[in-house]
Amino acid sequence: MSLGTAGARAARTADPAEPGGDAALAAAVALPPRAERAERAEAAADRLRTAAVDAVAVTWVDNAGITRVKAVPVGGLVHTAEWGIGTAPCFDVFLADDASTTSPIIGGPTGDLRLYPDLDRLVPLAAQPGWAWAPGDRHTQAGGPHPGCQRLFARRTEAAAAARGLSLKAGIEVEWVVALDGPPQEAPRYPTHGPAYGMHRLTDLSDYLRDVLRALDHQGLDVLQIHPEYSPGQFEVSVAPEGPVGAADTSVLVRHTIRAVSARHGLRVSFAPVVEPGAVGNGGHLHLSLWRDGRNLGHGGPGPHGLTAEAEGFLAGVLDALPALLVLGCSSPAGYLRLVPQHWAGAYQCWGLENREAALRLVTGSTGERAAAANAEVKCFDASANPYLAVGGVIAAGLAGLERRGTLPPEFTGDPAAAEPGTVPRLPQGPAEAIAAYERSAVLREALGEPLYQAVLAVRRAEAEQYASAGPEQLVAATRWRY
Ligand code: GLU
Ligand code: MG
Repeated sequence: MSLGTAGARAARTADPAEPGGDAALAAAVALPPRAERAERAEAAADRLRTAAVDAVAVTWVDNAGITRVKAVPVGGLVHTAEWGIGTAPCFDVFLADDASTTSPIIGGPTGDLRLYPDLDRLVPLAAQPGWAWAPGDRHTQAGGPHPGCQRLFARRTEAAAAARGLSLKAGIEVEWVVALDGPPQEAPRYPTHGPAYGMHRLTDLSDYLRDVLRALDHQGLDVLQIHPEYSPGQFEVSVAPEGPVGAADTSVLVRHTIRAVSARHGLRVSFAPVVEPGAVGNGGHLHLSLWRDGRNLGHGGPGPHGLTAEAEGFLAGVLDALPALLVLGCSSPAGYLRLVPQHWAGAYQCWGLENREAALRLVTGSTGERAAAANAEVKCFDASANPYLAVGGVIAAGLAGLERRGTLPPEFTGDPAAAEPGTVPRLPQGPAEAIAAYERSAVLREALGEPLYQAVLAVRRAEAEQYASAGPEQLVAATRWRY
């Protein structure tokens, strides 16, 4: 199992019993013993019955960024924990409109996988009474990790960091547009017409937003803030940072909780990159900090704004890989309608302290809280991304940068759009450019492993082709209610 160029090299030379060895990395994606799973599921099922839960939804996110699901009654949870739920591998080449493509290794009607709920994340759903949710990992029928499983990929990259004594804290901001319910072909009609960031909007939708907060809180999520955003009907919620796989799980849970609360209020939501052509879109900004021995490596170092050499190397790796990372962090071709200058989407491949036009925004936090708060934000990502691919890809690119002791180019202050043309590189302006960068990225290819790398590539190519001649109106109409 490979983990990025540098990781793979280290893994091959290490003793397999050592933390950085193949055995440790394999352990990070292995299922616990069956008897242990059964015992834990039995206890979990008892708790769920006490909480009046009838069924458990087990989700995974496909390469097009759509959350897919299989559900089981609570009575079947033990069997599910022991044997998984059957899921077809062809979901790895599904497109956002439910058409499918094929890829050199994964695709076609044959084969089956087992989807195992992660019982550590099992939680009753506050806005879907009688239901609980758990994210799933996909394994083969023989019990080994499915090489196309995006969540296991994220786990492997987390383990690759751990093998170097590093840990990460991550958080994914969720932006959404809320609209009155209507048919899928209809453009949004808004339940509030209040101004951007306006109290007016919060007042109009006060019960709804309180119910969103309540549901998130009942599910054990630690909300940092909620507020109206720029575009019509747009809001944002952010939650406390946690481990990278946990943050990806949380972003799935937060979005589906918002969707469920909205439905109970007769509203519908869009997390699509762009909901109205030309408007500011929905981002899926990824915040990350790198830690060693309980110390935030983004603070107290000799580098720019207190970065340590390791944090700077990590961020240099991420910055360098951003064009290729867009393939993982912006799944939909519609993402490139969002990723435009002067929309706070981070359309330029540069970094800057608190610069909202830079794809990589450095955040040091306030004086006094910096040791805890310093982090970096990848702004160019949107919520059409599979969050497991997004976090795993960023970690792989960051570790490669750290390994080669990368340094950041000079900081960019101000608006890159106002700079002398050509001074600051634009990120890819369409899927073809991002796909070309991805095809040049040995780091991502090795980290993802061939089956997953190829499946993602096939899905991106197929969606790029689907919308190659579509104008913005058509592309937005086709994607706005899919995410
Ligand atoms: N909605 C903007 C985006 O598309 C981001 C606004 C903000 O900085 O929160 O990413
Ligand atoms: Mg925002």
